[in-house]
Order: sequence, then structure tokens, then C-alpha cells
Amino acid sequence: MNTMKRDRQFRPLPVPSVDIQGLFGDRQEAICDTTAETLLDRCVEAGMVDAIDVSKPGPGIVIPIQPWGGTTQMFWDSDLGKSIETVAYSLYRRANPKLEARVDEIIDMYEKMQDADGYLNAWFQRVQPERRWTNLRDHHELYCAGHLIEGAVAYFQATGKRKLLDIMCRYSDYLIKVFGRGEGQLRGYCGHEEVELALVRLARVTGQKKYLDLAKFFIDERGTEPHFFTGEAIRDHRSAEDFHQKTYEYGQAHEPVRDQKKVVGHAVRAMYLYSGMADIATEYNDDSLTQALETLWDDLTTKQMYVTGGIGPAASNEGFTDYYDLPNESAYAETCASVGLVFWANRMLGRGPNRRYADIMEQALYNGAMSGLSLDGKTFFYENPLESGGKHHRWVWHHCPCCPPNIARLLASIGSYMYAVSEDEIAVHLYGESKARFDIGGTAIELQQKTDYPWNGAIRFDVQTDKTGRFAISLRIPEWADGSTLKVNRKAVDLASVTIDGYARIERDWASGDHIDLDIPLSPRALFANPLVRQDAGRAALMRGPLVYCVEATDNGKQLNAIELTGNLAAAKTTEIAELRGAVAIDIPVKRDEPDWGTALYRTTPPSTKKGTARFVPYPFWDNREPGEMLVWVRAGELNGE
Ligand SMILES: [Zn+2]
Repeated sequence: MNTMKRDRQFRPLPVPSVDIQGLFGDRQEAICDTTAETLLDRCVEAGMVDAIDVSKPGPGIVIPIQPWGGTTQMFWDSDLGKSIETVAYSLYRRANPKLEARVDEIIDMYEKMQDADGYLNAWFQRVQPERRWTNLRDHHELYCAGHLIEGAVAYFQATGKRKLLDIMCRYSDYLIKVFGRGEGQLRGYCGHEEVELALVRLARVTGQKKYLDLAKFFIDERGTEPHFFTGEAIRDHRSAEDFHQKTYEYGQAHEPVRDQKKVVGHAVRAMYLYSGMADIATEYNDDSLTQALETLWDDLTTKQMYVTGGIGPAASNEGFTDYYDLPNESAYAETCASVGLVFWANRMLGRGPNRRYADIMEQALYNGAMSGLSLDGKTFFYENPLESGGKHHRWVWHHCPCCPPNIARLLASIGSYMYAVSEDEIAVHLYGESKARFDIGGTAIELQQKTDYPWNGAIRFDVQTDKTGRFAISLRIPEWADGSTLKVNRKAVDLASVTIDGYARIERDWASGDHIDLDIPLSPRALFANPLVRQDAGRAALMRGPLVYCVEATDNGKQLNAIELTGNLAAAKTTEIAELRGAVAIDIPVKRDEPDWGTALYRTTPPSTKKGTARFVPYPFWDNREPGEMLVWVRAGELNGE
């Protein structure tokens, strides 16, 4: 049965080819209503737009130089790039001439600022022009280019306007001259990966292979000896040893990428690198890259990932520490890192559907990433802890505002993560009310997905096409979805016989009116952590479908650690919470320590307990009502025993 060939190439559907409703539609509405405009407003308030306005004096150093030798002001272009990208996706959903005009104005400023040779960077043109290409390790120069490229691609696709795309093609053409293995060229790459995946997007939209080749060059050069960062420091009269993070692992440049076996360093950088590697593996059918990525994937997802798909527990390096070190209350788990994990997982699907990647994509998307944006679209999490004593809340902005536009652009473009096509197959990676339009072998097809997922597991697909065509529809059957059933035109299909790599693959002649019914049971399930995760010992996390659940003080009172999950999970009751936009809460039997302890700090008798129920709500929706305590990993008593 397994005829899967690795040289298949699946590419995501373009954002406008998918109409989104349901939960993600609701998130997109919030982005159209407020987030997209908020992002531009905040960029203006921070001085980012003035910084690229050549009719005004240069901004100077607004955010002081930090101990690492640079300032977050150096990444202002990236914030603008990601904000432009978010606005672009929002315009598909809802025209907004005012917002579009504001972006056009920003693009005009970039056009005026661009150097004759094509160079473009607010900091190195307007603040430190003498420092251009002198410290690729720390200064995010190519990282900024990458985000502007992504913004340009999205804006071109959304509006048909080429100006920013042409600007970024000129810049990329200049990069092709600066970087390479030839005489006088820089054999370097950016300390913060991003430009690699962006160049792939540029190549795909322009059809220009030269941009792919440059992306591949950056990936192939990374971590090779003699080390570029060392040589660069010496040429710049800096000590090669004396830098903030002290190790090239921080930017995954400690060894060539194909030799890397352990996920290390700064979490967002790692995710962006692996995303670029996965794209290049798909485009060049490069098995050596895929092999390295498969090893890294296992390393991350079996030893270093929170149950929320959060990654990078430590603030000190914004990244990875030791295996199984997953503290809950102090978790850094940056929103951008989970967004990056979604990017990577999605690109691992470029070589064919496989739930090993798609299940994690869904888990990270719904939990560690989506928690980054409030339900009203106005406030943002940077860190995503799994426990809070009541002082962790979303903020309106951040001195390093990388996360707000990152989660916004992901949710605004979610349609392209849900569906991917190859020459004879469409893969449905994520479920949610939507309509996808695509083309297989010259036949135009519309696939409508009718569902209340993730609240309800019944999913109906309706096929519309003007002529009958033979192709495969592949539907992910999540690993947790025991007891799923599938029917094609009301006839039951034996899932085991059609499932490959966790996807039910239905190949037939499809005609208008054909339909599929997929039913995924969404019973609550308790998860336990590997005993090597000391922070979760004796505890359980509740999941239902792709969602991690948590308890909040607003439903359960204070002292959430007094709660012990007991009894039969099948006795759980579900309720829709209007305040959380119809999210399904789970009411479950628990034991609870009585608060009648007295004044002693310690005593020889344990607290008495009483039975009760606790209300669990989806983790990504926490901190949207009364502020207060929150807890994911609750104490686990006898489960399913009664
Ligand atoms: Zn961030």
C-alpha cells in the first residue's frame, strides 16, 4: 500500500484560495477589526515609519545599545515587514482602503530610501551607514531583509501591486552580488535565520531560481569552517570570543546544518532555519537535509517541547536548555517560537502528508501560538507560561514587538496551512469551517469543509467540480483520534486500509456532489509527562481534540494547586462559554484541598479534601476574562478508576 515517494512536492494553497469561517474565521475578523491597524499604529508610535522617511532627519539611536552590542531598533524593518504582511492577508478577507493607503505610503518611503545598488535597511542607511555588513552574527541585517521580502510577497499577492516586490527583488539581486563563494564576495549568513525561507517565497512568486540558489547558499554555508563569524569579527577588529551568548549554538551556526542532531540555541532562530531547510529540501529533493530535519524533529518533540507546543523554556537565551527541562510558571515559550514551529511543521509536509508533523503543527498552532493574541485582537502575550500566580497578562506592546505581527500574520494566513496540493492530490492538514479552491491536472475543484471543529468532531466535505477528475483527497487522522470513522458518499470506508502516514487517502474519480463524512471523537483525555520532566511529576494535563485545557481562578477560585483531578473523565460535561466566543469548557469531577488550614506554615497532618467539580477552559483563551491564576498541569489523583 505504501507507495509514497519522497520526491512528491506539496505546496500550500495561496491564502486567497481558502475562505475561512468558524474559530479561525473569528480570529481573522478580530485581526481585520483591530489587530492589523493596531500593528501599524504601534509601528508609527515607536518611530519606525519616521525612521524610513528620508524627508526627515535620521532617527538616531532611539533604543539604547544593549550588552549584546546592538539594539532592538535594528529590527524595526522586520516589524514593519511583518505588519505589512498581516495587513496584506487581512485585505483578502475585507477590503480596507484606508489601511491599504497607509501601507502604500510606507512602501513609497522604502522606495525613496533604497540605495542605488539596491541596499535597503533603516538602521544601516540612516543610523550607522558605516557598519553595513560588518556584524552579520548580531545585527539582524539579513533577517530584516527576509521579513520585508515576506511582506512584499504577501502584499503583491493580496493587492497585485508590485512596487514593494520590485524593491525587494532589486535588494535580493544585490544580495546575490554581495554573497557567494566568488572573489570579493562574503561567504556569510545571518546570525538570525529568516532570509532563507523568505527567499524561497520570493522564488516561488517570481519563478526566479536564483533566489532559491541564494537561500540554499546561506543554508549550505552555515556552520562550516573556517567559521564566517570568527573571520568577520577579526576583520572588524572585534574579539571573536567576546560576545553576548558565547556560543555559535545560539544561532545554530556551531556546525554544518546537515550534521546538527540536537535542537539548540535561540528557539525562533532554530525554527526559522529548519523552515528554510525544509523548503530547500522540498525544492531540491535534498534527502540529506530531510534526514537532518527528521532527527532534529524527534529531538525537539520528544525531549524539548511543552504540551502546548511551546518551545524554548529559558529567557536567558530565549531558547533551549537541557532535555526535559520544562518549567511551567517561568516558561519563556515565546509566541514567535510556537509560530515558528508551525512554520517548520508545515514545511515538513512539503514532501508529503504525514501526521507526525501535522499533529504537532495543530498542537502548536492552537495552543502555544494562538494564546499570543487576545480574543478581541488588541493585546498580546510574548511569553506563554503554563502556570500563572495571577500576574501574567497580555500587553499592548513590547520593546521588542516581534510576537504581535507574527501571530497575526499566521492566523490571517491560516488557510494556506490547512490545505496543500501536489499534482494529483490535495491534503487537508487542519480542520475548520472553510472552502478551498484549487486546480488538479487542469480541473478546477472546490472543496467545502463544513464543521464546528475544534468544538465538535463531525466534519463534512463537499466536492464541486465542472468535470469529473481523478485525484486523491488525503485527510489527517490525528494520532489521538481513536475511533474515527470515515464515509464516502454515505458508504463506510475502512480507515486502516486507506491510511498512510496518518492520512486517510481516498483516490477516485471525484465528481460534483461527492461528499465525505469524517467523524473525529473529541473525548477529553488526560496526558502525563515523561517522568524525566521533573516539573510535571504527579500531574496531568487535560486535552480535548487539539486543545490543551487549563483552570483559571475566574471559574474555580484561587489556589488552583488545591485541585486534584480524579474520577472518570467520561463523566466530564461540556458547556459553551458565551464570554469566550462559544468555546467549549469541560466540567470535571475533582478533589480539592480544604482551605481550613489555619496559620501554621507547616504541620504534620495533610489538608483535608472534599469532592467537587472544576471547570477547564481552552488554554489559548485564558486571560480573556477576569485576570487571575491559571494552571495547565494539575495534580493527578486516581483517574478513570471510579
Ligand atoms: Zn516574538
